[in-house]
Amino acid sequence: MAEHQDQVPLTDIGVRDTGIDVIVVGAGFGGIACAIECKRKGHRVMILEKVHELKRLGDTLNLGVNAGRILARWGLHEKFWDISANPREIHIHDYLGGFIQVQKLPLPLFGAFAYNGHRALFHEILFEHAKSLGIEIRMGHQAVEYWEDETNGKAGVKIQTGETFDADVIVAADGVKSLARKFVIGYHDNPKPSGYAIYRAWFDAEEHGIMSDPLTDFLTIHGDQFHTWIGKDVHFIATSSHGGKVICFVITHKDDAVVDGDWSSPGKIEDVLDIVKDWDPRCAAVISKAPSCIDWKLLVHDPLPTWISKSGRVVLIGDAAHPFLPTSVQGASQAIEDGTTLAVALNLAGKNNVPLGTRTWESIRYQRVRDAQLLGETLRNKWHGAKPGDSGKSFELPKPEWLLAFDAEAHAYATYDGIARSIVEDGYRQPSLSGE
Ligand SMILES: Cc1cc2nc3c(=O)[nH]c(=O)nc-3n(C[C@H](O)[C@H](O)[C@H](O)COP(=O)(O)OP(=O)(O)OC[C@H]3O[C@@H](n4cnc5c(N)ncnc54)[C@H](O)[C@@H]3O)c2cc1C
Repeated sequence: MAEHQDQVPLTDIGVRDTGIDVIVVGAGFGGIACAIECKRKGHRVMILEKVHELKRLGDTLNLGVNAGRILARWGLHEKFWDISANPREIHIHDYLGGFIQVQKLPLPLFGAFAYNGHRALFHEILFEHAKSLGIEIRMGHQAVEYWEDETNGKAGVKIQTGETFDADVIVAADGVKSLARKFVIGYHDNPKPSGYAIYRAWFDAEEHGIMSDPLTDFLTIHGDQFHTWIGKDVHFIATSSHGGKVICFVITHKDDAVVDGDWSSPGKIEDVLDIVKDWDPRCAAVISKAPSCIDWKLLVHDPLPTWISKSGRVVLIGDAAHPFLPTSVQGASQAIEDGTTLAVALNLAGKNNVPLGTRTWESIRYQRVRDAQLLGETLRNKWHGAKPGDSGKSFELPKPEWLLAFDAEAHAYATYDGIARSIVEDGYRQPSLSGE
């Protein structure tokens, strides 16, 4: 096991070259975060991404304080903050518009900032930062096959052209429809419909008449806003950002469709309006102004038995390992934590102990990620059961210390040795979850 200091190095770019070759598949949030931290920790890292160019896809994305702490350490706070919504409170209403609760949003929280903004703009910041560190990102490289060979201590990936790449470890950060997942767990993991779907929209306030309608101008006149209406097995969130100039809504509702919707399946505004037809009229007023919306069907995956391949050299991170329901508001944050933790674990393991590093990493991450996932389900159930006349703090968006005060990098340094030692002494076992 590698010697290390208890202190977290805060500016460790240029640390000793570990000689560990890492290939990351997928330049989403998890993949880029992993590559950045790998570079900081002295690994040789390259990213393969299937799309040829970045497109401005998606809409609102939240990066929790636990991810904000990592991004700030990379020197990116100003860039994220400048394009983040900054509502100071959450207004929670019942579906008829009755007051339930105003939840204050303290800044900073546990010493760091959360960022809420457009997914594509946030993604661009990370992408550009990775490039500025000299990380090679090969676009138009779609992984089609994986393998590993413990006799030579390598794992490999083939792309659509037939070209192959090998490395000490392959990090598959290839998202919710991961191809690598089957290689790692040995079977095709069938997602199940969650019973819910989300309509989502993102549009300009002035151009679409939000400012000139007395039913909707509450979203613009006091700067950035966050309002939610809850009950009847639905929750509707309307927010504004950029000083009230940009509007976003998401509405989570019952939907048993089995199709695996993606981020660009269009929805119909009249279907959205139908959901809120007997609701507080402000909801319909906001929805009717959106020029278009996305219809995203939510699927759930049972926890995977493992996130690492048999020989420990192909690793699933982010949505490939553990897709999140949006109500947890932690999908991207946990992907960033995964990547950061893995880079530390590889650094502490050293080139000759890569499988021990990945197995230790899995053990560090597994229960925490599950706890974060379950938080989202609990909140959704509570919001969807709200009735007119309900009030109180139990409807607040949870901000638990165990989740948000967490420092993934420091935690990896603090826990690695003990867990790695027990794997060496007792042998590796697939992770298990407490209480399930
Ligand atoms: C286009 C898009 C839009 C999204 N919009 C939102 C949003 O508005 N709000 C929100 O909360 N979340 C959104 N998400 C999901 C969110 O980004 C993830 O849930 C979260 O950030 C976890 O990140 P990840 O890195 O695990 O996965 P992702 O961010 O999904 O990244 C996966 C990456 O892997 C690439 N990839 C997939 N297969 C291969 C392959 N075979 N070879 C090479 N590369 C591959 C994908 O192109 C993608 O870049 C979106 C995801 C995508 C892909």
